[in-house]
Amino acid sequence: MEHVLGTGVSKGIAIGSALVKNESSSEFQKKNITDTEHEWDRFIKAKEEGRQQLEILVQQSREKIGEDEAQIFEAHILILEDEELANLVKTQIHNQKKNTEWAVHEAAEHFAVILEGLEDAYLKERAHDIRDVSARLIRLLSGTDKHEMSMMDKPYIIVARDLLPGEMVHIDKNIVMGIITEAGAKTSHTAILAKAMGIPAIVGAEGILDKVKDHETIIFDGEFGSIYISPEADVLDQYKQKLEALRVQKKELEDFKDKLSITKDGIAVELFGNMASIAELPGLIENSAQGIGLFRTEFLYTTKDTAPTEEEQFEIYKYTAEKMHGKSVIIRTLDIGGDKEIPYLGLDKEENPFLGCRGIRLCFDKVDIWKVQLRALLRASIYGDIRIMLPMITVVEEIRKAKEIINEVKAELKSNGILYNENLKIGIMIETPAAAIMADSMAREVDFFSIGTNDLIQYTLACDRMNPKVSYLYSQFNPSVLRLIKHIIDTGHEYGIKVGMCGEAAGDTRLIPLFVGMGLDEFSMNTSGLLEAKKVVTQISKYEMKEAVSSVLKLKTAQEVETYLRTML
Ligand code: PEP
Ligand code: MG
Repeated sequence: MEHVLGTGVSKGIAIGSALVKNESSSEFQKKNITDTEHEWDRFIKAKEEGRQQLEILVQQSREKIGEDEAQIFEAHILILEDEELANLVKTQIHNQKKNTEWAVHEAAEHFAVILEGLEDAYLKERAHDIRDVSARLIRLLSGTDKHEMSMMDKPYIIVARDLLPGEMVHIDKNIVMGIITEAGAKTSHTAILAKAMGIPAIVGAEGILDKVKDHETIIFDGEFGSIYISPEADVLDQYKQKLEALRVQKKELEDFKDKLSITKDGIAVELFGNMASIAELPGLIENSAQGIGLFRTEFLYTTKDTAPTEEEQFEIYKYTAEKMHGKSVIIRTLDIGGDKEIPYLGLDKEENPFLGCRGIRLCFDKVDIWKVQLRALLRASIYGDIRIMLPMITVVEEIRKAKEIINEVKAELKSNGILYNENLKIGIMIETPAAAIMADSMAREVDFFSIGTNDLIQYTLACDRMNPKVSYLYSQFNPSVLRLIKHIIDTGHEYGIKVGMCGEAAGDTRLIPLFVGMGLDEFSMNTSGLLEAKKVVTQISKYEMKEAVSSVLKLKTAQEVETYLRTML
């Protein structure tokens, strides 16, 4: 048995036999040719066929997966149509007197290698897109186009150096139980697509291709990144049990879809969904999300080479509002910086990105880009209950300035006769200790709070949320964080505004009872946590939990809190 660790990017346990894909580009033979015109004609024909295939893929992914994914193939069409690429193919055919397959490969590699040599992580990733287009052309030229994922007919775990977006879209969820790649990071397309499709996945599993052979049994946990190759019987049993337990649990939870989210003593608790792309919307609705508590809009910006236009954004926000039929849709404006980067914005490298120009600070710095988003949001606001949420607020002046800019955009729309919801609600994320401590001043300025525990924890405990060396400090059970949360909820209520939470802690079943006791109005989480959260809510009494809150807030360490909560339920 071998154990390999990668980065878990899509939750779930997968057990199955490996399908090892060593090569993502198609194979071809290098041949000498004499009829250069014929080879060029072959290129033109393959290009046309490739374009037709890609147009179908754009349409299919728009219907089956989502807009972001469709745009990946739109980008491929642009690469395919690129004149520089075509010119280089032509030069290779004419000068080297070699077949088109070879010329396409050489030309694509030329551009891919240049991109790979760049510092910028996003542009580096684009080398894969060029190779994907090249592989498509070569398959078409050599007649091996049938070798796509759709050929697989029994359950597999795909193990590959990397999977190209063109291959991902052919994956049948009923056959592919999981995906492991050597390459890729959390923002790579494989990760984005796997998550959107609900397939467990691990990326960055270094050396996996040298260790695993076709048909070998693999077990992996897409949450923690753990992979076992040819597992010993006891590990296999252990994971089979885990998988079975997950299946049973999932089935039992189905019953909660139709139940109300009400505590035993009759208090309604709102359970909302977090989303990063509209592909997640059907899942959230299916799992009875009572609203959207966090739409992370930065994802609309990070999956593309340019900022999304006002029209593109308007369509996405309108669609979301309409699908939620008048329920709250809290859309967080662009929250870039820290670990979230957008190469095309050309932002300066910062010594401490988490303490730098991120969230609302960046919205002010790139106000033109922000205004485009605000226009789209305001225009879409007449189609449902869209609310604007400002990220990374630290001082009250930021709220005032943001509202001024929003008012400017409203005035522009009004002067052009464009409708928007005059009563649109504006809220803030409370994710810095300063905002938490000054919650009273903040509450006077806004309509709602949403506690962003992911950042609140890192800033309160002064530990980078990405740094494994200090992860022992990073805990949602830390009493300092819990005291701040209690303070935020109490203060919000004192000023008559609603307080929600959209950080990961909102979906933590160990903490939900405590937050119910504190009076948190709305919990917003990923699709996978919704039904379990509802189950917990229905099993507790708010009255009893209020008493637990005072006991917990007297505890001194995160460990004590965790133990208390574990024994309490
Ligand atoms: C948070 O900080 O809790 C939050 C929800 O925002 P993000 O994780 O996107 O920074
Ligand atoms: Mg945050």
